[in-house]
Amino acid sequence: METIPTRQQVGDGLLTTDQIQSTVEEVLAKTPFIDVHTHLFAPSFGGLGLWGIDELLTYHYLEAELFRSSRISPEHYWSLPKREQANAIWQALFVENSPVSEATRGVIAVLDAFDLPTDSPNLEEARSFFRAQRVESHVARVLQMAGVSSVVMTNDPLHPEEQQVWMNGSEPSADFQAVLRLDRILWGWPGHWQRLVEQGYAVDAQATGKSVASASESSDTSGRRRCGQSRHARCGKYLPGLPR
Ligand SMILES: [Zn+2]
Repeated sequence: METIPTRQQVGDGLLTTDQIQSTVEEVLAKTPFIDVHTHLFAPSFGGLGLWGIDELLTYHYLEAELFRSSRISPEHYWSLPKREQANAIWQALFVENSPVSEATRGVIAVLDAFDLPTDSPNLEEARSFFRAQRVESHVARVLQMAGVSSVVMTNDPLHPEEQQVWMNGSEPSADFQAVLRLDRILWGWPGHWQRLVEQGYAVDAQATGKSVASASESSDTSGRRRCGQSRHARCGKYLPGLPR
């Protein structure tokens, strides 16, 4: 006997049980998401933005898994060039073992999304695919495929390479929002306050006097130069679309 109520029985405003799954899938597929915490960088950050199969495979979760699942020593692994590190991880976690962990499944999902082989003994096809991509169009395609409208970076204006990008004031990117990473200013202060002095800010080793205001001003300047946002980089709490 049919026990599931029909649409007429439950009223026009409600879904029937068998409509729920498809409706939820449809709504999720159409809803653009904002990823509020990533370690991605906009293409204008150049080499800071890691991408491609070798970078995916040498993600630190997979490195930890490699050391648990194979006999390779960390010393030997760290002495290898990135390409060979990726080969070692592919061999140990994908060829010799079934990729069932969350981290390995992520790589399989990426390969599958681009119609690349997930059961290949080597990475040649995946490498040639990524070599053929331009980072700008690849990033746009990935965001579109993932249903993500924009991502929030994790920005450290005291990272020497990143600092240059901020100070060059390249064009703002609507897809990549900025958020200040405070690590070097908070626990890394003893090793980093001199860098702010070199830039002309009134800070000292004990973070006394004008130090806090000056460090804040320096972050503010980096943010404003890059994206025209004067307060977001300073407070570090800004998330797009949410109150500051
Ligand atoms: Zn993180």
